[in-house]
Amino acid sequence: MATTTTAVELKPCPLYINGKRVISSGPKDIQYNPATGEAVAEVPRCTPEEISAAVEAAHKAFPAWSKTPVIQRCKVLFKLRELMEANAAELVALIIEENGKTIDEARGSFDRGIECIEFACGAPTLMMGETVEQVGNRVDGWSTRHPIGVCVGITPFNFPLMVPLWMFPLAIACGNTFVLKPSDKVPRSAVRLVELAIEAGLPPGVLNLVHGAKSTVDSLLTDPRVKAVSFVGSSAVAKYIYQTAANNGKRVQALGGAKNHSVVLPDADMKSTVAAIMNSGFGCAGERCLATSVVVAVGEVADPLVKELVKAADNLTVGNGCDVKTGMGPVITEESKKRVLSYIEMGEKEGAVVARDGRKDPVAKGNGFFVGPTILDKVSPKSRVAKEEIFGPLLSVVRVKDMKEALEVISNSEYGNAASVFTRSGGAAREFTQNVTAGMVGINVGVPAPVAFFPFAGWRNSFFGDLHALGKDGMHFYTESRVITCRWPD
Ligand code: NAD
Repeated sequence: MATTTTAVELKPCPLYINGKRVISSGPKDIQYNPATGEAVAEVPRCTPEEISAAVEAAHKAFPAWSKTPVIQRCKVLFKLRELMEANAAELVALIIEENGKTIDEARGSFDRGIECIEFACGAPTLMMGETVEQVGNRVDGWSTRHPIGVCVGITPFNFPLMVPLWMFPLAIACGNTFVLKPSDKVPRSAVRLVELAIEAGLPPGVLNLVHGAKSTVDSLLTDPRVKAVSFVGSSAVAKYIYQTAANNGKRVQALGGAKNHSVVLPDADMKSTVAAIMNSGFGCAGERCLATSVVVAVGEVADPLVKELVKAADNLTVGNGCDVKTGMGPVITEESKKRVLSYIEMGEKEGAVVARDGRKDPVAKGNGFFVGPTILDKVSPKSRVAKEEIFGPLLSVVRVKDMKEALEVISNSEYGNAASVFTRSGGAAREFTQNVTAGMVGINVGVPAPVAFFPFAGWRNSFFGDLHALGKDGMHFYTESRVITCRWPD
């Protein structure tokens, strides 16, 4: 479990300002490979001058880029897509090294990222306005959509490539310029992405990249040249971003944390339900904002369900994501590992039964930040393990008597990102979708991630703002509308 900082040559992590590669003069933090615990790179905390230069580059690039015909803007994104596919193996390997994902998970997130570029290439149609003739005598009305200026994206560690792609392709397709601040834990996938976007033909200043954490973010949130902020990360930071950016007059969409529930009814198909919950609970080591964290077992399904989940967890191969046999990788840091372990202990103290103990897996005792898949049964819905975001491979099973009680468990959550129901009954599925307090809902789907042409975000403390990411909401977020009323003289 040791972390090392010696003897290896650490990779640099450049910034991109006005199309140019820059090595920051700010202090550096160390990035670790979560599967080995080894130090791999140096991540700078940008200086205020560097951040200001990045914003200035975006500010200066805006007039020409916003006037570039939308179809030409999209052609650069078509080229970026092509370059990403040509460099897919390298990008997927980088996601695995930075984040610890398995090969399938890394490739899956790469594909979902590509989908966001493809969606953004629809900007010519998405941005179309509306027209009504003869709103008055010889008077016509129509609306148009316009880019807003410099947009900022601040992204989390759990999808190093995909979450930046939720943001900047659509923003720049709509005619904005962009400053990206990726997670300080996984910044190098974003570096390659920006390099490929520049190679694809983005003019200098249209897409800039800075690094750091709170102080970098604060500089961006208070800069008057920044017009909009897209954020994805934990709820506490999302709320702070929302309030600070809004107080500084910016448009904000801030996607926060989650505590997602999967409700299993007695009539559910056991085999496919167990497969879906295993993927949702333990895929990406539970570090997914759509991960199932609480299984709500209704009635008599609880005993057989827990038995099957434990069996499936016993068969999961935990290890380094670059090995094809690996079914689950590590969590992101030593600190995350300690947090997950502390929640397992807390669950025991709160009276839960440890049905499968990931602390005992040999991999949990070696190098790297591993915790084996863990299942807590008979968890009280009022306990902290059932209510707080854990973000690791720890599944809590709450037993309830019926759908009404299941919906109550969900509605008592402070979050509302995602929820799923597993059933063969159309009536039960309808009752669930009509009453559940979550923004993204699955029926017999464990990870109900909307495809890029739908908006993506949750409810309650899982989201702060008005317009969600992606879909038409995303386009509306990155544009403002103008309505023209015109009288034609005789
Ligand atoms: P985080 O909130 O710690 O960090 C997110 C970003 O904010 C990073 O770029 C980080 O450098 C920056 N940051 C951290 N602390 C800050 C502070 N005090 N002030 C300003 N900026 C700060 O989140 P994380 O640990 O990187 O990511 C995991 C979290 O993201 C989980 O809570 C997960 O549920 C959430 N998430 C949500 C979604 C969604 O769609 N709702 C998607 C992915 C991840």
